[in-house]
Amino acid sequence: MHITNYSSCIMVIFGGTGDLAHRKLLPAIYNLYSQKKLSHNFAVVAIGRRAKTSDEYREEVLDSLHAFLKFDVEKEVWNSIKNKIYYKEMDFSEGESYQGLNIDLMEIDDRHNTCGNRMYYMAVAPEFFGTIVDNLKINCMKSNYNAWNRVVIEKPFGRDLNSARLLNNKIVEVFKEENTYRIDHYLGKEMLQNIMVIRFANMLFEPLWNNKFIDHIQISSSETVGVGGRGNYYEKSGALRDMVQSHMLQLLSLIAMEPPNDLETKSIRDEKVKVLKSLGRSKIADINEVIVRGQYGGLVDDSDEILAYRNENKVSESSNTETFVALKVNIENFRWSGVPFYIRTGKRMKKKSTEIVIQFKSLHNILYFKEKELLPNMLVIRVQPTEGVFFQFNAKEPGTQNNIIPVNMDFCQNCHIGINSPEAYERLLSDVIRGDATLFARWDEVEYSWRFVDQIFEAWEDTNPQFPNYKPWTWGPKESDDLLKKDNRSWINF
Ligand code: NAD
Repeated sequence: MHITNYSSCIMVIFGGTGDLAHRKLLPAIYNLYSQKKLSHNFAVVAIGRRAKTSDEYREEVLDSLHAFLKFDVEKEVWNSIKNKIYYKEMDFSEGESYQGLNIDLMEIDDRHNTCGNRMYYMAVAPEFFGTIVDNLKINCMKSNYNAWNRVVIEKPFGRDLNSARLLNNKIVEVFKEENTYRIDHYLGKEMLQNIMVIRFANMLFEPLWNNKFIDHIQISSSETVGVGGRGNYYEKSGALRDMVQSHMLQLLSLIAMEPPNDLETKSIRDEKVKVLKSLGRSKIADINEVIVRGQYGGLVDDSDEILAYRNENKVSESSNTETFVALKVNIENFRWSGVPFYIRTGKRMKKKSTEIVIQFKSLHNILYFKEKELLPNMLVIRVQPTEGVFFQFNAKEPGTQNNIIPVNMDFCQNCHIGINSPEAYERLLSDVIRGDATLFARWDEVEYSWRFVDQIFEAWEDTNPQFPNYKPWTWGPKESDDLLKKDNRSWINF
Protein backbone atom coordinates (compact mmCIF):
# COMPACT_ATOMS: atom_id res chain seq x y z
CA MET A 1 0.00 0.00 0.00
CA HIS A 2 1.32 3.38 -1.00
CA ILE A 3 1.35 5.76 1.99
CA THR A 4 1.01 9.41 1.04
CA ASN A 5 1.82 12.42 3.17
CA TYR A 6 -1.24 14.56 3.62
CA SER A 7 -3.60 13.52 0.92
CA SER A 8 -6.47 15.62 -0.42
CA CYS A 9 -9.92 14.26 0.38
CA ILE A 10 -13.50 14.78 1.51
CA MET A 11 -14.38 13.26 4.87
CA VAL A 12 -18.07 12.31 4.88
CA ILE A 13 -19.38 11.80 8.41
CA PHE A 14 -22.53 9.70 8.70
CA GLY A 15 -23.78 10.79 12.12
CA GLY A 16 -22.30 14.27 11.80
CA THR A 17 -24.68 15.68 14.42
CA GLY A 18 -23.86 12.99 16.99
CA ASP A 19 -21.74 12.89 20.13
CA LEU A 20 -18.68 11.25 18.57
CA ALA A 21 -18.53 13.74 15.71
CA HIS A 22 -18.79 16.76 18.02
CA ARG A 23 -16.65 15.51 20.90
CA LYS A 24 -13.85 13.71 19.06
CA LEU A 25 -13.87 13.86 15.25
CA LEU A 26 -14.29 17.58 14.57
CA PRO A 27 -11.88 18.67 17.34
CA ALA A 28 -9.34 16.18 15.93
CA ILE A 29 -9.81 17.63 12.42
CA TYR A 30 -9.38 21.17 13.76
CA ASN A 31 -6.15 20.18 15.57
CA LEU A 32 -4.71 18.42 12.54
CA TYR A 33 -5.50 21.44 10.40
CA SER A 34 -4.00 23.90 12.88
CA GLN A 35 -0.83 21.79 13.03
CA LYS A 36 -0.69 21.79 9.21
CA LYS A 37 -1.14 18.03 9.14
CA LEU A 38 -4.06 18.29 6.72
CA SER A 39 -3.94 19.21 3.10
CA HIS A 40 -5.56 22.53 2.14
CA ASN A 41 -7.52 20.46 -0.37
CA PHE A 42 -9.72 19.00 2.29
CA ALA A 43 -13.43 19.21 3.18
CA VAL A 44 -15.84 17.71 5.69
CA VAL A 45 -19.44 16.83 4.85
CA ALA A 46 -21.47 16.09 7.96
CA ILE A 47 -24.72 14.20 7.43
CA GLY A 48 -27.69 14.63 9.76
CA ARG A 49 -31.44 14.30 9.66
CA ARG A 50 -32.45 17.70 10.94
CA ALA A 51 -32.88 20.66 8.61
CA LYS A 52 -30.11 23.23 9.01
CA THR A 53 -27.75 25.23 6.86
CA SER A 54 -24.01 24.69 6.70
CA ASP A 55 -23.57 28.04 8.49
CA GLU A 56 -25.79 26.88 11.36
CA TYR A 57 -23.86 23.62 11.58
CA ARG A 58 -20.54 25.52 11.60
CA GLU A 59 -21.78 27.51 14.63
CA GLU A 60 -22.51 24.22 16.44
CA VAL A 61 -19.05 22.92 15.54
CA LEU A 62 -17.48 26.10 16.92
CA ASP A 63 -19.38 25.58 20.21
CA SER A 64 -18.05 22.01 20.39
CA LEU A 65 -14.50 23.19 19.72
CA HIS A 66 -14.82 25.66 22.60
CA ALA A 67 -16.13 22.86 24.81
CA PHE A 68 -13.79 20.01 23.90
CA LEU A 69 -10.45 21.42 22.73
CA LYS A 70 -7.64 21.58 25.27
CA PHE A 71 -6.55 24.94 23.81
CA ASP A 72 -8.42 28.10 22.84
CA VAL A 73 -9.82 28.16 19.33
CA GLU A 74 -7.56 30.32 17.13
CA LYS A 75 -9.65 32.76 15.13
CA GLU A 76 -7.39 32.58 12.09
CA VAL A 77 -7.44 28.79 11.97
CA TRP A 78 -11.21 28.66 12.43
CA ASN A 79 -11.83 31.25 9.71
CA SER A 80 -9.72 29.21 7.37
CA ILE A 81 -11.21 25.79 8.15
CA LYS A 82 -14.89 26.69 8.65
CA ASN A 83 -15.60 27.08 4.93
CA LYS A 84 -14.39 23.56 4.36
CA ILE A 85 -17.15 22.18 6.60
CA TYR A 86 -20.56 21.43 5.05
CA TYR A 87 -23.81 20.09 6.39
CA LYS A 88 -25.98 17.74 4.34
CA GLU A 89 -29.54 17.10 5.46
CA MET A 90 -30.47 13.55 4.60
CA ASP A 91 -31.93 10.38 6.08
CA PHE A 92 -29.20 7.87 5.35
CA SER A 93 -31.62 4.94 5.58
CA GLU A 94 -33.36 6.24 2.42
CA GLY A 95 -31.63 4.99 -0.73
CA GLU A 96 -32.97 7.75 -2.98
CA SER A 97 -31.10 10.43 -1.03
CA TYR A 98 -27.65 9.12 -2.04
CA GLN A 99 -27.78 10.42 -5.59
CA GLY A 100 -28.16 13.93 -4.20
CA LEU A 101 -25.28 13.26 -1.83
CA ASN A 102 -23.05 12.21 -4.71
CA ILE A 103 -23.90 15.36 -6.69
CA ASP A 104 -23.03 17.51 -3.66
CA LEU A 105 -19.78 15.60 -3.13
CA MET A 106 -18.75 16.11 -6.75
CA GLU A 107 -19.40 19.83 -6.42
CA ILE A 108 -17.41 20.08 -3.20
CA ASP A 109 -14.72 17.99 -4.82
CA ASP A 110 -14.38 20.57 -7.62
CA ARG A 111 -14.47 23.51 -5.20
CA HIS A 112 -11.75 22.16 -2.91
CA ASN A 113 -9.67 20.11 -5.36
CA THR A 114 -10.01 16.97 -3.31
CA CYS A 115 -9.18 14.74 -6.31
CA GLY A 116 -12.23 12.50 -5.83
CA ASN A 117 -10.72 10.91 -2.71
CA ARG A 118 -13.30 10.09 -0.07
CA MET A 119 -13.25 8.91 3.51
CA TYR A 120 -16.67 7.63 4.65
CA TYR A 121 -16.82 7.70 8.43
CA MET A 122 -19.57 5.62 10.10
CA ALA A 123 -20.25 7.56 13.30
CA VAL A 124 -23.60 5.79 13.64
CA ALA A 125 -25.03 2.69 15.28
CA PRO A 126 -23.82 -0.53 13.58
CA GLU A 127 -27.30 -1.52 12.35
CA PHE A 128 -26.97 1.27 9.74
CA PHE A 129 -23.59 0.19 8.33
CA GLY A 130 -25.06 -2.30 5.85
CA THR A 131 -27.63 0.11 4.38
CA ILE A 132 -25.06 2.88 4.08
CA VAL A 133 -22.39 0.82 2.30
CA ASP A 134 -24.99 -0.69 -0.06
CA ASN A 135 -26.17 2.76 -1.08
CA LEU A 136 -22.64 4.11 -1.37
CA LYS A 137 -21.83 1.29 -3.76
CA ILE A 138 -24.76 2.11 -6.03
CA ASN A 139 -24.39 5.89 -5.99
CA CYS A 140 -21.11 7.23 -4.73
CA MET A 141 -18.21 5.00 -5.68
CA LYS A 142 -17.62 5.81 -9.32
CA SER A 143 -16.01 9.18 -8.96
CA ASN A 144 -12.55 9.08 -10.44
CA TYR A 145 -10.54 6.06 -11.52
CA ASN A 146 -7.42 7.03 -9.59
CA ALA A 147 -9.25 8.24 -6.51
CA TRP A 148 -9.47 6.26 -3.29
CA ASN A 149 -12.60 5.42 -1.29
CA ARG A 150 -11.97 4.40 2.33
CA VAL A 151 -14.48 3.47 5.00
CA VAL A 152 -13.96 3.95 8.73
CA ILE A 153 -16.03 1.72 10.98
CA GLU A 154 -16.55 2.53 14.64
CA LYS A 155 -16.77 -0.19 17.22
CA PRO A 156 -18.70 -2.27 18.13
CA PHE A 157 -17.89 -4.40 15.08
CA GLY A 158 -20.75 -6.87 15.53
CA ARG A 159 -22.03 -8.31 18.80
CA ASP A 160 -20.66 -11.83 18.28
CA LEU A 161 -18.71 -13.72 15.64
CA ASN A 162 -21.77 -14.39 13.54
CA SER A 163 -23.01 -10.79 13.36
CA ALA A 164 -19.44 -9.52 12.86
CA ARG A 165 -19.08 -11.89 9.88
CA LEU A 166 -22.35 -10.74 8.34
CA LEU A 167 -21.30 -7.13 8.77
CA ASN A 168 -17.88 -7.80 7.30
CA ASN A 169 -19.36 -9.62 4.30
CA LYS A 170 -21.49 -6.55 3.61
CA ILE A 171 -18.50 -4.23 3.81
CA VAL A 172 -16.17 -6.31 1.64
CA GLU A 173 -18.76 -6.32 -1.15
CA VAL A 174 -18.05 -2.59 -1.44
CA PHE A 175 -14.66 -1.81 0.11
CA LYS A 176 -11.49 -3.88 -0.18
CA GLU A 177 -9.87 -4.93 3.12
CA GLU A 178 -7.04 -2.43 2.52
CA ASN A 179 -9.63 0.37 2.33
CA THR A 180 -11.51 -0.73 5.45
CA TYR A 181 -10.38 0.95 8.66
CA ARG A 182 -11.88 -0.67 11.78
CA ILE A 183 -11.28 1.83 14.54
CA ASP A 184 -10.15 0.79 17.99
CA HIS A 185 -9.27 4.19 19.39
CA TYR A 186 -7.00 2.59 22.04
CA LEU A 187 -4.56 1.83 19.24
CA GLY A 188 -4.22 5.56 18.60
CA LYS A 189 -3.03 6.18 22.16
CA GLU A 190 0.60 7.20 22.49
CA MET A 191 1.60 4.48 24.97
CA LEU A 192 0.16 1.69 22.84
CA GLN A 193 2.36 2.82 20.00
CA ASN A 194 5.18 2.86 22.54
CA ILE A 195 4.74 -0.80 23.58
CA MET A 196 6.62 -2.13 20.55
CA VAL A 197 9.41 0.41 21.04
CA ILE A 198 9.80 -0.44 24.74
CA ARG A 199 9.90 -4.15 23.90
CA PHE A 200 12.01 -4.18 20.79
CA ALA A 201 14.38 -1.24 21.33
CA ASN A 202 15.69 -2.13 24.80
CA MET A 203 18.31 -4.75 25.59
CA LEU A 204 17.09 -4.64 29.18
CA PHE A 205 13.63 -5.96 28.28
CA GLU A 206 13.65 -7.80 24.97
CA PRO A 207 15.70 -10.87 26.05
CA LEU A 208 13.60 -11.24 29.23
CA TRP A 209 10.19 -11.02 27.51
CA ASN A 210 9.18 -14.69 27.88
CA ASN A 211 8.16 -17.46 30.27
CA LYS A 212 11.70 -17.96 31.60
CA PHE A 213 11.75 -14.55 33.27
CA ILE A 214 8.19 -13.25 33.48
CA ASP A 215 5.92 -14.55 36.25
CA HIS A 216 2.67 -13.07 35.01
CA ILE A 217 1.13 -10.04 33.29
CA GLN A 218 -1.82 -7.90 34.39
CA ILE A 219 -3.80 -5.71 32.01
CA SER A 220 -6.30 -3.45 33.79
CA SER A 221 -8.60 -0.73 32.58
CA SER A 222 -10.89 0.87 35.13
CA GLU A 223 -13.29 3.81 35.10
CA THR A 224 -14.80 5.61 38.08
CA VAL A 225 -17.93 6.62 36.17
CA GLY A 226 -21.01 4.45 35.67
CA VAL A 227 -22.91 4.10 32.39
CA GLY A 228 -24.53 7.53 32.74
CA GLY A 229 -26.63 8.33 29.67
CA ARG A 230 -25.40 5.29 27.71
CA GLY A 231 -27.65 2.70 29.40
CA ASN A 232 -29.37 1.84 26.14
CA TYR A 233 -26.08 1.01 24.41
CA TYR A 234 -24.54 -0.70 27.42
CA GLU A 235 -27.48 -3.04 28.00
CA LYS A 236 -26.74 -4.58 24.59
CA SER A 237 -23.02 -4.61 25.20
CA GLY A 238 -21.57 -5.07 28.71
CA ALA A 239 -17.93 -5.01 29.74
CA LEU A 240 -16.89 -8.12 27.83
CA ARG A 241 -18.11 -6.82 24.46
CA ASP A 242 -17.39 -3.15 25.12
CA MET A 243 -13.85 -3.51 26.44
CA VAL A 244 -12.40 -7.04 26.32
CA GLN A 245 -13.23 -8.09 22.75
CA SER A 246 -11.67 -4.92 21.37
CA HIS A 247 -9.35 -2.79 23.55
CA MET A 248 -8.10 -5.36 26.06
CA LEU A 249 -7.33 -8.06 23.49
CA GLN A 250 -5.57 -5.48 21.32
CA LEU A 251 -3.39 -4.56 24.31
CA LEU A 252 -2.74 -8.23 24.97
CA SER A 253 -1.71 -8.92 21.39
CA LEU A 254 0.79 -6.03 21.37
CA ILE A 255 2.32 -7.21 24.65
CA ALA A 256 2.51 -10.86 23.63
CA MET A 257 3.28 -10.79 19.88
CA GLU A 258 6.55 -12.01 18.37
CA PRO A 259 8.85 -9.38 16.85
CA PRO A 260 7.58 -8.64 13.32
CA ASN A 261 9.98 -8.98 10.37
CA ASP A 262 9.69 -5.25 9.73
CA LEU A 263 7.39 -2.35 10.59
CA GLU A 264 5.09 -2.86 7.61
CA THR A 265 1.36 -2.94 8.41
CA LYS A 266 0.99 -6.55 7.28
CA SER A 267 3.96 -7.83 9.29
CA ILE A 268 2.71 -6.28 12.53
CA ARG A 269 -0.88 -7.43 12.04
CA ASP A 270 0.28 -10.97 11.14
CA GLU A 271 2.05 -11.26 14.50
CA LYS A 272 -0.90 -9.85 16.45
CA VAL A 273 -3.25 -12.34 14.81
CA LYS A 274 -1.05 -15.27 15.85
CA VAL A 275 -1.53 -14.28 19.49
CA LEU A 276 -5.30 -13.98 19.14
CA LYS A 277 -5.42 -17.29 17.28
CA SER A 278 -3.60 -19.10 20.05
CA LEU A 279 -6.10 -17.77 22.63
CA GLY A 280 -8.90 -19.79 21.17
CA ARG A 281 -6.75 -22.86 20.54
CA SER A 282 -7.88 -24.75 23.62
CA LYS A 283 -11.41 -24.58 24.92
CA ILE A 284 -11.69 -22.81 28.27
CA ALA A 285 -12.21 -25.82 30.55
CA ASP A 286 -14.09 -24.39 33.53
CA ILE A 287 -15.17 -20.87 32.84
CA ASN A 288 -16.05 -20.11 36.45
CA GLU A 289 -12.51 -20.96 37.52
CA VAL A 290 -10.97 -18.35 35.25
CA ILE A 291 -13.61 -15.65 34.72
CA VAL A 292 -15.41 -13.35 37.14
CA ARG A 293 -18.21 -11.00 36.18
CA GLY A 294 -19.69 -8.21 38.24
CA GLN A 295 -22.22 -5.42 38.28
CA TYR A 296 -22.06 -2.32 40.45
CA GLY A 297 -24.55 -1.63 43.19
CA GLY A 298 -25.64 1.77 44.49
CA LEU A 299 -24.67 3.95 47.40
CA VAL A 300 -26.50 6.55 49.42
CA ASP A 301 -24.50 9.01 51.46
CA ASP A 302 -25.42 12.29 53.17
CA SER A 303 -25.43 14.44 50.09
CA ASP A 304 -25.86 12.18 47.14
CA GLU A 305 -27.29 8.97 45.82
CA ILE A 306 -25.12 6.91 43.53
CA LEU A 307 -27.35 4.78 41.34
CA ALA A 308 -26.88 1.05 41.11
CA TYR A 309 -26.46 -0.11 37.50
CA ARG A 310 -29.98 -1.59 37.57
CA ASN A 311 -31.39 1.83 38.46
CA GLU A 312 -29.59 3.74 35.71
CA ASN A 313 -31.60 5.36 32.90
CA LYS A 314 -32.70 2.88 30.18
CA VAL A 315 -31.41 -0.13 32.14
CA SER A 316 -33.65 -3.04 33.09
CA GLU A 317 -34.32 -3.42 36.85
CA SER A 318 -33.37 -7.08 36.58
CA SER A 319 -30.47 -6.58 34.18
CA ASN A 320 -27.71 -9.19 34.20
CA THR A 321 -25.39 -7.10 32.05
CA GLU A 322 -21.87 -7.17 33.46
CA THR A 323 -20.17 -3.85 34.25
CA PHE A 324 -17.02 -5.64 35.41
CA VAL A 325 -15.08 -8.61 34.17
CA ALA A 326 -11.81 -10.21 35.27
CA LEU A 327 -10.25 -13.15 33.52
CA LYS A 328 -7.19 -15.31 33.45
CA VAL A 329 -5.93 -16.07 29.98
CA ASN A 330 -3.23 -18.48 28.83
CA ILE A 331 -1.45 -18.01 25.55
CA GLU A 332 -0.55 -21.47 24.42
CA ASN A 333 2.63 -20.84 22.50
CA PHE A 334 6.34 -21.39 22.96
CA ARG A 335 7.04 -17.96 24.47
CA TRP A 336 4.16 -17.72 26.93
CA SER A 337 3.23 -21.22 27.99
CA GLY A 338 2.78 -21.16 31.79
CA VAL A 339 2.55 -17.37 32.09
CA PRO A 340 -0.96 -16.23 33.05
CA PHE A 341 -2.29 -12.97 31.67
CA TYR A 342 -4.87 -11.47 34.03
CA ILE A 343 -7.28 -9.01 32.42
CA ARG A 344 -9.61 -6.76 34.40
CA THR A 345 -11.96 -3.99 33.37
CA GLY A 346 -14.92 -2.29 34.98
CA LYS A 347 -17.03 0.76 35.59
CA ARG A 348 -17.54 2.58 38.92
CA MET A 349 -14.18 1.39 40.13
CA LYS A 350 -11.80 2.99 42.55
CA LYS A 351 -9.63 4.78 40.03
CA LYS A 352 -9.62 5.76 36.37
CA SER A 353 -6.60 4.10 34.81
CA THR A 354 -5.36 1.77 32.11
CA GLU A 355 -2.13 -0.01 32.97
CA ILE A 356 -0.15 -3.06 32.01
CA VAL A 357 1.95 -4.67 34.74
CA ILE A 358 4.73 -7.05 33.76
CA GLN A 359 5.84 -8.86 36.88
CA PHE A 360 9.16 -10.65 36.57
CA LYS A 361 9.99 -13.85 38.45
CA SER A 362 11.48 -13.52 41.93
CA LEU A 363 15.21 -13.97 42.22
CA HIS A 364 15.81 -16.73 44.78
CA ASN A 365 19.08 -15.63 46.16
CA ILE A 366 21.03 -17.03 49.07
CA LEU A 367 22.90 -13.77 49.56
CA TYR A 368 19.97 -11.48 50.21
CA PHE A 369 17.01 -13.76 50.80
CA LYS A 370 16.93 -13.98 54.59
CA GLU A 371 13.88 -13.04 56.62
CA LYS A 372 11.67 -12.02 53.73
CA GLU A 373 11.58 -12.70 50.04
CA LEU A 374 12.79 -9.91 47.75
CA LEU A 375 10.08 -8.08 45.86
CA PRO A 376 10.10 -8.98 42.18
CA ASN A 377 11.06 -6.53 39.45
CA MET A 378 8.05 -4.94 37.88
CA LEU A 379 7.58 -2.96 34.70
CA VAL A 380 4.38 -0.92 34.46
CA ILE A 381 3.25 0.63 31.18
CA ARG A 382 0.81 3.42 31.97
CA VAL A 383 -1.60 4.03 29.12
CA GLN A 384 -4.05 6.57 30.62
CA PRO A 385 -4.68 9.04 32.16
CA THR A 386 -0.97 9.12 33.09
CA GLU A 387 1.18 8.05 30.16
CA GLY A 388 4.54 6.61 31.04
CA VAL A 389 6.68 3.75 32.25
CA PHE A 390 7.43 2.73 35.82
CA PHE A 391 10.15 0.23 36.73
CA GLN A 392 10.61 -1.26 40.19
CA PHE A 393 13.88 -2.86 41.27
CA ASN A 394 15.73 -3.67 44.51
CA ALA A 395 18.42 -1.57 46.13
CA LYS A 396 20.13 -1.25 49.50
CA GLU A 397 18.39 1.02 51.94
CA PRO A 398 20.85 3.83 52.65
CA GLY A 399 22.36 3.76 56.14
CA THR A 400 21.52 0.10 56.79
CA GLN A 401 23.84 -2.88 56.56
CA ASN A 402 22.09 -4.89 53.93
CA ASN A 403 18.45 -4.00 54.12
CA ILE A 404 16.92 -4.33 50.67
CA ILE A 405 14.08 -2.06 49.62
CA PRO A 406 12.18 -1.67 46.35
CA VAL A 407 12.98 1.58 44.54
CA ASN A 408 11.63 2.79 41.24
CA MET A 409 12.29 4.73 38.10
CA ASP A 410 9.22 6.54 36.93
CA PHE A 411 9.03 8.14 33.49
CA CYS A 412 5.94 10.25 33.13
CA GLN A 413 5.56 10.95 29.42
CA ASN A 414 2.66 13.38 29.60
CA CYS A 415 4.40 15.32 32.39
CA HIS A 416 7.13 16.16 29.84
CA ILE A 417 5.19 16.41 26.61
CA GLY A 418 2.27 17.87 28.58
CA ILE A 419 -1.03 18.59 26.96
CA ASN A 420 0.57 18.64 23.52
CA SER A 421 0.36 14.86 23.48
CA PRO A 422 -1.98 14.24 20.50
CA GLU A 423 -5.43 12.74 20.95
CA ALA A 424 -5.95 9.20 19.63
CA TYR A 425 -8.45 10.36 16.98
CA GLU A 426 -5.94 12.85 15.53
CA ARG A 427 -3.43 10.13 14.90
CA LEU A 428 -6.03 7.72 13.54
CA LEU A 429 -7.74 10.17 11.19
CA SER A 430 -4.43 11.31 9.81
CA ASP A 431 -3.47 7.64 9.25
CA VAL A 432 -6.68 6.99 7.28
CA ILE A 433 -5.95 10.01 5.09
CA ARG A 434 -2.36 8.84 4.56
CA GLY A 435 -3.50 5.28 3.86
CA ASP A 436 -1.69 3.68 6.81
CA ALA A 437 -3.84 0.93 8.39
CA THR A 438 -1.29 -0.30 10.97
CA LEU A 439 -3.26 1.06 13.93
CA PHE A 440 -6.58 -0.42 12.78
CA ALA A 441 -7.87 -3.94 13.31
CA ARG A 442 -7.71 -6.28 10.32
CA TRP A 443 -10.71 -8.59 9.83
CA ASP A 444 -8.92 -11.70 11.16
CA GLU A 445 -7.97 -9.84 14.38
CA VAL A 446 -11.65 -9.07 14.92
CA GLU A 447 -12.63 -12.61 13.99
CA TYR A 448 -10.29 -14.36 16.43
CA SER A 449 -11.18 -11.95 19.25
CA TRP A 450 -14.86 -12.80 18.79
CA ARG A 451 -14.11 -16.52 18.65
CA PHE A 452 -12.49 -16.26 22.08
CA VAL A 453 -15.14 -14.00 23.62
CA ASP A 454 -18.07 -16.03 22.23
CA GLN A 455 -16.90 -19.04 24.28
CA ILE A 456 -17.43 -16.98 27.42
CA PHE A 457 -20.91 -15.86 26.44
CA GLU A 458 -21.86 -19.46 25.70
CA ALA A 459 -20.78 -20.56 29.17
CA TRP A 460 -22.52 -17.61 30.84
CA GLU A 461 -25.80 -18.58 29.24
CA ASP A 462 -26.08 -21.52 31.64
CA THR A 463 -25.50 -19.60 34.86
CA ASN A 464 -27.36 -16.83 36.62
CA PRO A 465 -25.14 -14.21 38.22
CA GLN A 466 -25.88 -12.79 41.66
CA PHE A 467 -25.93 -9.10 40.83
CA PRO A 468 -25.15 -6.49 42.06
CA ASN A 469 -21.96 -7.83 43.60
CA TYR A 470 -19.62 -4.87 44.08
CA LYS A 471 -19.85 -1.48 45.68
CA PRO A 472 -19.11 1.71 43.75
CA TRP A 473 -15.52 2.92 43.83
CA THR A 474 -13.99 -0.39 44.82
CA TRP A 475 -11.79 -2.73 42.82
CA GLY A 476 -14.74 -4.94 41.85
CA PRO A 477 -16.19 -8.11 43.40
CA LYS A 478 -14.27 -10.15 45.97
CA GLU A 479 -14.11 -13.07 43.52
CA SER A 480 -11.81 -10.98 41.35
CA ASP A 481 -9.22 -10.89 44.15
CA ASP A 482 -9.79 -14.61 44.75
CA LEU A 483 -9.01 -15.30 41.09
CA LEU A 484 -5.40 -14.26 41.71
CA LYS A 485 -5.24 -15.41 45.32
CA LYS A 486 -5.74 -18.99 44.12
CA ASP A 487 -2.47 -18.57 42.21
CA ASN A 488 -0.71 -16.89 45.18
CA ARG A 489 -0.81 -13.56 43.40
CA SER A 490 -2.70 -10.30 43.82
CA TRP A 491 -3.80 -7.37 41.65
CA ILE A 492 -1.34 -4.50 41.65
CA ASN A 493 -3.47 -1.43 42.36
CA PHE A 494 -1.45 1.76 42.05
P1 NAD B 1 -25.12 9.45 18.46
O1 NAD B 1 -26.43 8.76 18.63
O2 NAD B 1 -24.80 10.62 19.33
O3 NAD B 1 -24.96 9.94 16.93
C1 NAD B 1 -25.54 9.31 15.83
C2 NAD B 1 -26.12 10.42 14.96
O4 NAD B 1 -26.68 9.83 13.79
C3 NAD B 1 -27.22 11.21 15.65
O5 NAD B 1 -26.95 12.59 15.54
C4 NAD B 1 -28.47 10.83 14.87
O6 NAD B 1 -29.40 11.89 14.75
C5 NAD B 1 -27.90 10.50 13.51
N1 NAD B 1 -28.80 9.59 12.78
C6 NAD B 1 -29.39 8.47 13.24
N2 NAD B 1 -30.15 7.92 12.28
C7 NAD B 1 -30.03 8.71 11.19
C8 NAD B 1 -30.56 8.65 9.88
N3 NAD B 1 -31.38 7.65 9.49
N4 NAD B 1 -30.24 9.60 9.00
C9 NAD B 1 -29.40 10.61 9.37
N5 NAD B 1 -28.86 10.74 10.59
C10 NAD B 1 -29.17 9.79 11.50
O7 NAD B 1 -24.01 8.33 18.60
P2 NAD B 1 -22.46 8.54 18.90
O8 NAD B 1 -22.24 8.51 20.36
O9 NAD B 1 -21.94 9.69 18.13
O10 NAD B 1 -21.86 7.16 18.35
C11 NAD B 1 -21.82 6.82 16.97
C12 NAD B 1 -21.13 5.48 16.79
O11 NAD B 1 -19.82 5.55 17.31
C13 NAD B 1 -21.82 4.34 17.56
O12 NAD B 1 -21.67 3.16 16.81
C14 NAD B 1 -21.02 4.23 18.85
O13 NAD B 1 -21.08 2.94 19.39
C15 NAD B 1 -19.63 4.56 18.32
N6 NAD B 1 -18.73 5.12 19.35
C16 NAD B 1 -19.04 6.29 19.98
C17 NAD B 1 -18.15 6.81 20.91
C18 NAD B 1 -18.43 8.13 21.60
O14 NAD B 1 -17.53 8.59 22.32
N7 NAD B 1 -19.57 8.73 21.41
C19 NAD B 1 -16.96 6.13 21.21
C20 NAD B 1 -16.68 4.93 20.55
C21 NAD B 1 -17.58 4.44 19.61
